[in-house]
Amino acid sequence: MSHPLIIIGAGIAGLWTALHAAPRRVILLTGARLGEGSSTGWAQGGVAAALGTDDRPSLHARDTIAAGAGLVYEAAAYLLAEAGPAEIEALYGLGAPFEREADGSWSLSREAAHSRARVARVKGDQAGAGILAALIRAVQAAPHIEIREGWRASGLIPDAAGGCAGVMAFDPSGNLHDLLASDVVLATGSLCGLYGVTTTPASSQGQALSWAARLGAVIQDPEFVQFHPTAIDVGRDPAPLATEALRGEGATLIDRTGTRFMRGVHPQAELAPRDVVARAVHRQVKTGRGAYLDARAAVGAEFPERFPAVFAACRAAGIDPRLAPIPVAPAAHYHMGGVAADTEGFTGVPGLWAVGECASTGVHGANRLASNSLLEGLVFGRRAAEALANAPQRALKPVPADPAPALPAEALARLRAAMAIEAGVEREAAGLARLLDTINALEAKHGEADALIAARFVAAGAMLRTESRGGHFRSDHPSTSAVATHTRLTLAEARAVHPHISPLAEPAE
Ligand SMILES: Cc1cc2nc3c(=O)[nH]c(=O)nc-3n(C[C@H](O)[C@H](O)[C@H](O)COP(=O)(O)OP(=O)(O)OC[C@H]3O[C@@H](n4cnc5c(N)ncnc54)[C@H](O)[C@@H]3O)c2cc1C
Repeated sequence: MSHPLIIIGAGIAGLWTALHAAPRRVILLTGARLGEGSSTGWAQGGVAAALGTDDRPSLHARDTIAAGAGLVYEAAAYLLAEAGPAEIEALYGLGAPFEREADGSWSLSREAAHSRARVARVKGDQAGAGILAALIRAVQAAPHIEIREGWRASGLIPDAAGGCAGVMAFDPSGNLHDLLASDVVLATGSLCGLYGVTTTPASSQGQALSWAARLGAVIQDPEFVQFHPTAIDVGRDPAPLATEALRGEGATLIDRTGTRFMRGVHPQAELAPRDVVARAVHRQVKTGRGAYLDARAAVGAEFPERFPAVFAACRAAGIDPRLAPIPVAPAAHYHMGGVAADTEGFTGVPGLWAVGECASTGVHGANRLASNSLLEGLVFGRRAAEALANAPQRALKPVPADPAPALPAEALARLRAAMAIEAGVEREAAGLARLLDTINALEAKHGEADALIAARFVAAGAMLRTESRGGHFRSDHPSTSAVATHTRLTLAEARAVHPHISPLAEPAE
């Protein structure tokens, strides 16, 4: 009997993998409705690729490697950069409405830590929506893809011979099914929804890390979370984003007296690497000096036309960014770590693959270069699909399994608050121990929920990394070690980092 390829997730990585996996029969599961529930649809800036006449893939790769602070797998960065221009052409050919100049060249934005303008954009800040619409049209027309909308995966089915034999999933009516698969591709996106302040969909809670780790996969560099410096600070969950392209256009960061504070922090001021800007904004907010993005001079009256999504988010909060600075704060935005995967997405667990943000190929190292992640979904999604297209069928011996327990809403709220406080922009050992106490206490009360496992990986990785590097800043270990090493943890190793609840820890509610 022939079993399909199952792809979990309908963001850029899942959709692009599905499209290129023909002639394999693909079942695409998406917990939300198609077009909803993904970071992809919310992307504002665009996709980075060496498309300008002054640019070259080697420069893009070099910027990627520099941003990643010693932990980028260089071969992966070169693959990403070299494949970039062709992937943008392919998306454009599919109908993604990237902006072009009158002479036919690409309209490109410059974003932080890029040495060239190289971010292909769509109507200012509409990149994700434009790309997603084109991808959805394409998968709906592809005869090899069966889309199961509203099907929420809840775990993987182990194989008696080791590896993955399929997916447990709830259908839209809430009935649980065992779906056998010769191969499963994880494309579930971020884990930043585990944070109380995030820009990603709330449902992005690192499920893939937990599922893969339960089958023996290694989780790589989980401590590296990127905090976006300019989430719009108006108390919304998730927080709306003020795209970095605004700073690329000249918007400045000011305190409540109107003084630019990035000038004294980094030579590139507002266009310094994201982690530097995020820490500066964090300190401004923490010390009460305030942080605001001032686009009045740089964008002004053109705001509604050039950045419609940011403009709408500001207006909904009663702010007119043409006339007033936008209050901002850092928010968990992107996960550099994830399920360890090679550059074809293979996790090392037979039948299990990972692409997009939930995977860690090492292409981002300790810090993602802005707008490299949509590109990652394209480049490594296609490579996984090509590896899978003609992969032989595996003989399956599924082992019955049950989904992990769900975490009740109040327990999840407690976890998210603890993650934001203790594993945020600045971390230290005592706070991480408190976070692991909270995770242990919640686990003792509610069982080993997927959200707790994913959070445990972040906390354990952050505890073990006694240095500061890229997106990970330890206030008790502020310097960077001379030798850069990856964190690679199995579930048993993560559990062993802080296994007991400290005597003074607060009990779970
Ligand atoms: C506000 C914002 C702006 C951004 N701007 C940019 C940008 O300009 N450029 C850039 O390169 N990157 C940007 N990023 C990052 C980028 O959008 C993401 O890294 C990328 O879209 C991730 O793609 P993905 O396919 O891996 O995951 P996602 O796009 O998040 O898709 C995940 C999919 O998995 C599904 N899913 C999750 N769990 C389950 C489950 N249990 N069962 C079934 N389905 C499930 C979801 O419904 C969704 O379809 C931005 C991110 C955010 C949040």
